[in-house]
Amino acid sequence: MNITIAGAGYVGLVTGAACAYLGHQVTFVDVDQDKLDAIERGESPIYEPGLEDLLRLGAWRIRCTRDYAEALPGCDIVFITVGTPHLADGTPNMSYVEAAAREIGLHIGAGYTLVVNKSTVPVGSGNWVEAIVRDAFESRNGRRPDGKFSVASNPEFLREGSALHDIFYADRIVIGSRDARAIAMLTELYQPVQNQDFTPPAFLPRPEGQGAVPVVTTDLTSAELIKYAANAFLTVKIGFINEMASLAESVGADVTQLSRGIGLDARIGPRFLQAGIGWGGSCFGKDTAALVAIAREYGKQFHIVEAARQVNCEQRERVIEKLLGELKIMKGRVIGLLGVAFKPNTDDLRDAPALDIARRLLVRGARVVAHDPVALERARVECGSPGLVFKERAEEVFADADAVVLATEWPQYRELPFATLMGRMRTPVFLDGRNFFDPQQMAGFGFRYIGVGR
Ligand code: NAD
Repeated sequence: MNITIAGAGYVGLVTGAACAYLGHQVTFVDVDQDKLDAIERGESPIYEPGLEDLLRLGAWRIRCTRDYAEALPGCDIVFITVGTPHLADGTPNMSYVEAAAREIGLHIGAGYTLVVNKSTVPVGSGNWVEAIVRDAFESRNGRRPDGKFSVASNPEFLREGSALHDIFYADRIVIGSRDARAIAMLTELYQPVQNQDFTPPAFLPRPEGQGAVPVVTTDLTSAELIKYAANAFLTVKIGFINEMASLAESVGADVTQLSRGIGLDARIGPRFLQAGIGWGGSCFGKDTAALVAIAREYGKQFHIVEAARQVNCEQRERVIEKLLGELKIMKGRVIGLLGVAFKPNTDDLRDAPALDIARRLLVRGARVVAHDPVALERARVECGSPGLVFKERAEEVFADADAVVLATEWPQYRELPFATLMGRMRTPVFLDGRNFFDPQQMAGFGFRYIGVGR
């Protein structure tokens, strides 16, 4: 098939690279020429393990353009994968989706094209996109686009850091449309993933025991709601364990033991039960805000999701409270920060807890010295602020620090020479925001070790 990807960001790049690998012709269309140039050079504009290799494997089937007039003619399926960041009132900014849909309508080719919303968009967006495409087509051609296109929703569930795994070995694929032709085309596209009969890339072997991937076919609205519901549920689960962590600290229990104790219950499950400084990233915050806003639009208050958002916010403030408990005064203190990206194996800084914590420390008069193995350059460009210093080597955040906070559990931090580094600090306070280290071992190195809920 000829596939066009409108928006070569995290979702678009991974989707396009996977389609090219599976044998489709892929055209990336994006407003950012630098991104397109990077892809054409065979480089990934974002850090995502394996993505550059995957782009190279399909390079001869990939082309890039800024011009929808080049990208649309002859295209069978166009995925809209532009960003939908949230506005001040919690509703998503749909201007990028609107712009992409209009361009698609203006430049749709002579044949039939399926327009797929892969961006996370509020309920009703399928209808809205359909209307924009139709109006744009009519304005250019002076006739109705009957039978020339239809719209489907195909929400994306990939996790940054393991996005390739999640695309090829998905838990499920959700396809929503009222048009049987649209469902049939997407089902055909996803067939190799559904049946698991493609040859895996050498660097991404099929997991042992991987079976067929369920395809959930729904109406348009249900598909749109599934994405929000999935993300909201995960934030509730994390929020729950973080509240339990707070209680565990008060009563002298260990939340990691508690997580194991409840997670082994098949009805609960062990995943997303790791207490810590909370979630961040581009999706959870904006998707829960959007869900709350959608519910409000329909006269409903989403107490549980709102509470999960509140708990998450408090988790970040609790880091400051714990540091204050140890250091009493924050003004003039030097706080080291291990990890800046919102989670390991990505360079994504959107709503990163580390940066929020850094800002809270700066407001209280501390200096912050931070390190990240891959997001450093991006952090320097996007998050420069007086009092916030980025260092090339993780060891440097310990020098003369009054405390060090682990914000992102990059595996390489386990290899740090802690016994030596402890001696370089002014006061050896180590706040493990992800319960990543063994408390006894860290205490053995001489640290005053503080975890979350243990
Ligand atoms: P992103 O910001 O990384 O990428 C968006 C891209 O769209 C950028 O390259 C931007 O230049 C481009 N763009 C903007 N306007 C455009 C236009 N009119 N035409 C063509 N390109 C345009 O965003 P992302 O993280 O990939 O997220 C995309 C969507 O997918 C969002 O709705 C998000 O909620 C959803 N999603 C993201 C993830 C994730 O982990 N990042 C996971 C699932 C779903």
